[in-house]
Amino acid sequence: MAVGAGRVLRVALILEKSLGRPRQSRALPRPLDMLIATILSQNTSDVNSHRAFTALTGRYGSWEEVADAPLSSIRSLIRVGGMANQKSRRIREVLRTIRARYGRYSLESLRRKKDSDILTELTDLNGVGVKTAACVLLFSLGRDRFPVDTHVHRICNRLGLVKNCPTPEKTFWAMQPLVPKGRGYSFHTNLIRFGRLVCRSASPACDRCPLYAECRWPGRKSRRRKSTGRSRENYTFMLLDNIPA
Ligand code: SF4
Repeated sequence: MAVGAGRVLRVALILEKSLGRPRQSRALPRPLDMLIATILSQNTSDVNSHRAFTALTGRYGSWEEVADAPLSSIRSLIRVGGMANQKSRRIREVLRTIRARYGRYSLESLRRKKDSDILTELTDLNGVGVKTAACVLLFSLGRDRFPVDTHVHRICNRLGLVKNCPTPEKTFWAMQPLVPKGRGYSFHTNLIRFGRLVCRSASPACDRCPLYAECRWPGRKSRRRKSTGRSRENYTFMLLDNIPA
């Protein structure tokens, strides 16, 4: 269940005012590259998942070679990204399924399909969830979608943009009709950054939060400090100035 689109728009605009409006690059990665990169990004940092992707694609010149490679080799190349046992098996299985389903190691045929069909086809691959599929839609195919990872899920729930959504997948489906048109990329990207810098899982900086007035999380009150005269917007800028993106 979710609240109205008007409130979601207000939150998106406040974040844009505080953090800017990120624009998507014109050079988008190929969908299969994006799919594998997103699998590698699960439960690790951007830096380590990038290292794992670079090691894998640096050692093997094509996805066909990865699909034929020994699991032990894939595992050791991607170890830096964590969960190497699980991810190596998943990547090889996904590649082989794609070859069997589409006749080649490519997801280019998805470009001609509707978002809903793409979501169905990708989540039908073993180990590919709705977040990974939505990342391919947004970051590779340039569709106006809104992936929900743990940061986005946490913040949407704390803000009260969704109710009774205990999992990121439920939050994803509740949020899709509410995200302002044309703002899937900027809203998602800003929420991720906001979740890392301000609305952190264990120690949210509610006293510096530009969304304080919009927030429905009861715990925010105990984290409110005495006002020093600075606006919350300024606090957020100070915070962002001091923490690398
Ligand atoms: S007030 Fe606190 S809990 Fe609410 S969005 Fe801001 S940082 Fe997160």
